[in-house]
Amino acid sequence: MDRSLDGKHFDAVIIGAGMSGLAAGIRLAHFGKEVLIVEKHNAPGGLNSFYSLNGRKFDVGLHALTNYVPPGVKGTALGKILKQLRIRREELDLSEQVGSRISFPGESLFFDNDFSHFETEVARAFPKSIDGFRRFVAELPTMNDPALFKRMDSARAALAGYIADDALIEMILCPCMYYGSASPHDLDFCQFAILFRSLFLEGFARPYAGIRPIIRLLLDKYRALGGKRKMKCGVSRLEVDGGRVRRIHLENGDCVTAETVLSSAGLVETMRLVGKAGEQDDPRCHERLGFAETMTILDAEPSDLGWKDTIIFFSTEERFHYEPSREPVDVRSGVICIPNNYRYSDGKRLEEGWLRITSLANYDYWSSLEEARYYEEKVQAYEALTQNALKILPSLKGQSLDDLTKATDMFTPRTVTQFTSHLRGAIYGSLEKAREGRTELQNLYLCGTDQGLLGITGALLSGVTMANAHVLNK
Ligand SMILES: Cc1cc2nc3c(=O)[nH]c(=O)nc-3n(C[C@H](O)[C@H](O)[C@H](O)COP(=O)(O)OP(=O)(O)OC[C@H]3O[C@@H](n4cnc5c(N)ncnc54)[C@H](O)[C@@H]3O)c2cc1C
Repeated sequence: MDRSLDGKHFDAVIIGAGMSGLAAGIRLAHFGKEVLIVEKHNAPGGLNSFYSLNGRKFDVGLHALTNYVPPGVKGTALGKILKQLRIRREELDLSEQVGSRISFPGESLFFDNDFSHFETEVARAFPKSIDGFRRFVAELPTMNDPALFKRMDSARAALAGYIADDALIEMILCPCMYYGSASPHDLDFCQFAILFRSLFLEGFARPYAGIRPIIRLLLDKYRALGGKRKMKCGVSRLEVDGGRVRRIHLENGDCVTAETVLSSAGLVETMRLVGKAGEQDDPRCHERLGFAETMTILDAEPSDLGWKDTIIFFSTEERFHYEPSREPVDVRSGVICIPNNYRYSDGKRLEEGWLRITSLANYDYWSSLEEARYYEEKVQAYEALTQNALKILPSLKGQSLDDLTKATDMFTPRTVTQFTSHLRGAIYGSLEKAREGRTELQNLYLCGTDQGLLGITGALLSGVTMANAHVLNK
């Protein structure tokens, strides 16, 4: 056992080598701080990690890097991340989406990284609402606007103040909630404003080689700056005295100390390390949202099958349901992502066709199954999600998806908990967010998911912001 960390003191210990932890680590190491990142899992990346299965490389969850803006646009989340982490734009190798769609019964709205296209679509489909929609966009606060964080009212109610068509409200909420709402049914206006901007006013892009080069880039930077890492070894306990974390106990028995602890593990998950707030003590935990995702590898270029959209956010019912699933998977709404459909530079194409389908899923159901049953049920859920998506995607015109399929995989909320320790498989974490990252302990702060900035860009920004606020500018 490697005992070399035992007794060491650090300026900061960061719990988790996901996007927010790595970003915080780079920022602190850049300013000469002695930093240790402790990660429970054997691979970095957290919720956006990667793995290999039968020789094929899978990204855990990359659909899109949101908040994409072209070079030169000032005052954006992407620009701030690049500047603060000293990353050159070209290093991310981002390619823009071809175009995405919100698909509801009887109506479909196209959008891409040019917002005027979405505006035209709204005017076409909902002429009664276009003036209100434009007014809403004009009045939408920016992420840098402090007033935004004071408005914690309902996004549904706020939208109804501008938009006459209920159907349009449902269609706008669907992508925003799927890409970042921890709360069911509705989300607070602040979170909604951030998501609307990042999805519609900014846009989607993807690195050709997926999430790996981004993680490698972050790790290389962190290492080059002298940052230390301990992988495959979680923090098992935070020892507290006098309102401060005094000692950080690792799963291998080592114990280290730090001036500041930044945790990306989640609010309840972190407070459990202090011996507080078990899951059973927090009734709202049961409202946490779990998701399932299928991956299908195709022996075809999806656009040749007529599947030209990058991402489709769908609801099979007029009223969009976003709530803890009562069924193993809730096929009434979801996201279909086709990673091939980005404008990769030099006409490059992904070597294989990819189809990813995400829907809400029931954590209690999946976590209660014994191993053999779990695998059997996954096969059925895969089939249900895929058949449902085939009704939304353009018809295969006589071809069979089975004949085109080379390989498949699927994850459930149980997988998310197993590999990231997020309670109840909740990708978007706790319903309550600690916007300033503070906890009840003086030197313990949160970054990432439960600080409230979600997604890859949000998590990176959160790591940077929390490192600045609670260590560098203290
Ligand atoms: C399937 C899926 C698809 C997604 N798709 C996209 C997408 O297309 N675009 C996008 O922008 N976002 C996407 N996301 C969301 C995005 O991945 C997350 O919002 C973001 O990565 C969160 O980063 P984080 O650093 O806050 O947390 P995490 O990634 O959860 O990192 C926390 C880390 O802490 C570690 N940890 C927990 N407890 C301990 C402990 N006790 N000791 C040590 N380590 C611990 C965990 O293992 C984990 O690595 C997706 C997520 C999933 C799951």
